[in-house]
Amino acid sequence: MMTLYQAAAGILDKLQRKEGAVKTLVYDSGFKNVRQLYALLCETLRYSSVIEDVISSSELLRGPKKLPMSLAKVLVYDLLFGKGLQCGGRWKSTILAQRARLHAELAKLKVKKKVSSNQDLVTSMGGSSVGPALPRYVRVNTLKTSMDDVITCFKRQGYTYLGKARSMEELVDFGKKSGKKFLQDLHIPNLLVFPPSTDFHKDSLYIAGHLILQDKASCLPAFLLNPPVGACVIDACAAPGNKTSQLAAIVKNKGKVFAFDLDTKRLATMSTLLLRAGVTCQELANQDFLTVNPCEPKYQKVSHILVDPSCSGSGMPDRMRVLQDEVGAEQRGRLQALSAFQRRALAHAVKFPSVQYIVYSTCSVHQQENEDVVKDTLEQHPEFSLVNVLPSWPVRGLSTFPGSECCLRASWSETVTNGFFVALFQRRSPENKSTSEESKPADLHQGHASKGETMEKSDSLVQSKRKSECISQDSASSKKKKRKRKKCKTDQS
Ligand code: SAM
Repeated sequence: MMTLYQAAAGILDKLQRKEGAVKTLVYDSGFKNVRQLYALLCETLRYSSVIEDVISSSELLRGPKKLPMSLAKVLVYDLLFGKGLQCGGRWKSTILAQRARLHAELAKLKVKKKVSSNQDLVTSMGGSSVGPALPRYVRVNTLKTSMDDVITCFKRQGYTYLGKARSMEELVDFGKKSGKKFLQDLHIPNLLVFPPSTDFHKDSLYIAGHLILQDKASCLPAFLLNPPVGACVIDACAAPGNKTSQLAAIVKNKGKVFAFDLDTKRLATMSTLLLRAGVTCQELANQDFLTVNPCEPKYQKVSHILVDPSCSGSGMPDRMRVLQDEVGAEQRGRLQALSAFQRRALAHAVKFPSVQYIVYSTCSVHQQENEDVVKDTLEQHPEFSLVNVLPSWPVRGLSTFPGSECCLRASWSETVTNGFFVALFQRRSPENKSTSEESKPADLHQGHASKGETMEKSDSLVQSKRKSECISQDSASSKKKKRKRKKCKTDQS
């Protein structure tokens, strides 16, 4: 059976050969405890330059039984910075024989860099792109519990509740804290914030699906889309499903969440996750979103769509080092292919006849996958405009087109989250179609307002117009089919 370290080392090798992103490789590895494997990889990558330095100044790779570098890295990570070696097979004794030397090399490195903590060491060795440790964000799953119950439960477990965060600075500061304390997030109502080292994988609330471990930035798209209770929603690229479960919680398991994903394995993981989260309003399909027919009767009521397509993942700390190795044409080509898909996914979403709101998000920091995609979509679909989401959010879209400030950006240094981008599109009502300019935000949006519940009359006019477009498309296509059948008959005769 493959050990944790073997699985992690195999993925490090694949990353070196640029065979995929960490998350995908973890899901594809077949290793049972994907969270444990993912956490080990992220941390090993975060400490990578420190580990490489310690290994090269020790005797570790010089003995007769030569350890492969990738395996040495994960073992050294766990020995020096992690939970201590938990397994390790025949290599465990090799590492343990060098334990004193490895600790000594780490201490020497700290003296050389004039730092006392491991985190400062990472930063001093070019780890600034990796950023500070993020607080541990925990979304309370309101399908199974309530914020009050969870707070009470944590207090009973000996945690101190510090109330709602008052500023971004307080959250930044929390990223440096340790111990049993927690805050309520500043922006997302059902989100709790714990010090970075807090581990919930064995927590009974987490195991029972009452808590979802989800970075704050990744909670933004569903929160801002904010479909009303009972709405019909599409999650276009859904696996592994954290945003789908958040959407289900927002619509209170009423209505429908249609979720699509191309990847069978990720979709299987998603089914388990949704089951644990108590989601019952979903309809999962292992299907290319671009092939979903917007005119199918069951999609006629879809009013909200979440498009969170595959992206470079350059906002994720674990991807940063890998992306830094990618240069020039190679990176340009990959970004071009990704942004072409992202444009196509949005262009497909706008075809759903009743859709009023489309939220677009990536965990990428590249303009090409973010502002450029949004700008093109607005140009191609003037019937949509941007909503000025969360005006109090401090980091806005890059000023590359008028109105780009309606979009949100997130980063480790400014918002204490992973790197992220979100834009919310709204279908223009016939009244504002002629008057509003692209530079003027369509709306001020805080999320969880009553926007969806108070759909204007004009919106229903637009819906019926879109529906009739579908009907005429349908009749056109059935006429076409009839013509084809007739032609076939003629050919046969
Ligand atoms: N929204 C997900 C969540 O929060 O858990 C993460 C989505 S991930 C960024 C992108 C997903 O898009 C991947 O699971 C990938 O398999 C899927 N995907 C890529 N191309 C697709 C397509 N044409 N149709 C549907 N899903 C697609």
